[in-house]
Amino acid sequence: MKLTPHFSLEEFCASETALREGIDNTPPPEVVANLARLAKLLEKVRVVLKRPMRITSGYRCAALNARIGGSKTSAHLDGRAADFICPDFGTPYAVAKKIAAARLGYDQMIHEYGRWVHIAVPRLNEFEGRGVWYWASALEAKMCVQSEVVIVGGGNSAGQAAVFLSQYASKVHMIVRGPGLAASMSRYLIDRIAASPGIDLHVNTELTRLDGDANARLAKVSWRNTRTGDEITSPMRNLFLFVGADPETRWLEGSGVALDRQGFVITGRADERDGTARGSLETSVRGIFAVGDVRSGSVKRVGGAIGEGAAAVALIHQHLST
Ligand SMILES: Cc1cc2nc3c(=O)[nH]c(=O)nc-3n(C[C@H](O)[C@H](O)[C@H](O)COP(=O)(O)OP(=O)(O)OC[C@H]3O[C@@H](n4cnc5c(N)ncnc54)[C@H](O)[C@@H]3O)c2cc1C
Repeated sequence: MKLTPHFSLEEFCASETALREGIDNTPPPEVVANLARLAKLLEKVRVVLKRPMRITSGYRCAALNARIGGSKTSAHLDGRAADFICPDFGTPYAVAKKIAAARLGYDQMIHEYGRWVHIAVPRLNEFEGRGVWYWASALEAKMCVQSEVVIVGGGNSAGQAAVFLSQYASKVHMIVRGPGLAASMSRYLIDRIAASPGIDLHVNTELTRLDGDANARLAKVSWRNTRTGDEITSPMRNLFLFVGADPETRWLEGSGVALDRQGFVITGRADERDGTARGSLETSVRGIFAVGDVRSGSVKRVGGAIGEGAAAVALIHQHLST
């Protein structure tokens, strides 16, 4: 059964070990749905690599996963991860580097032992509005009364949300990838977090898994300390993400419009080749303007986006009249 033009259900479920040991590796319908999402992600990878890929391990039922010594929380168990190679492109390391540079929306990508690349689709989309939130207003706070919540992020927005939610939740777990908050958060917030017994700060930590209940609502969150490898799974109905934005600008690749390292559109910078000046909202391509959140260095506020949009209209008129 074809999941996408280049990937079939069979190749995600094929396993020599399962065949040899008589393990039935047939996926249930909810896993097939995940494999379809995974196949879509791999189609994007295929576009980046411009070569066919070979899946070496996809779905693993619990028996197969245990037999090959896979992690108990492996994303292979619910059809969200695949290991693959692409020898026509190069080594797994070269493949992983190319994918990393392409900024595809994956959950996890690991270059494993120089033998294959592991890639997994995120489950965040499944739980958006059902326990995964990108904002903490009074509305969300009401849902957190007397329960534990997780906040991911180490910036000021995450800090403000943690302090705010700690007035309602029985415990706020703050998950931060780095070794501390000093590099990314204002001092006054760091002090408030340190002084708040309701906030537990988990540094060098990353989310590893989300699980839902029978109503497809968020029910459990797992996180792992990247230094010690210790992993915790905790019942959790609400997860707040304050990890910054990921601009949707891949389609601009090859257009000549310059992007910064995060993929935001650069404006107002003189042409690198001939030194000619650019208007404040003009991109590296003359006559193309960028405004709002997508613009590198913009304030990321509604008012800013509106103001820049209005200013761009005047700049476009000016451009057309010259
Ligand atoms: C949870 C949250 C809360 C916020 N709260 C506040 C607040 O209280 N006050 C405040 O001032 N700001 C707030 N912001 C920020 C504010 O929403 C943004 O600064 C503002 O929306 C930016 O406007 P924009 O038009 O630049 O981008 P957007 O509002 O993101 O609009 C971009 C549009 O382009 C579309 N698009 C993307 N790619 C393509 C494509 N290839 N082709 C066609 N269309 C495309 C998108 O679907 C989207 O509709 C908040 C943001 C978030 C996420």
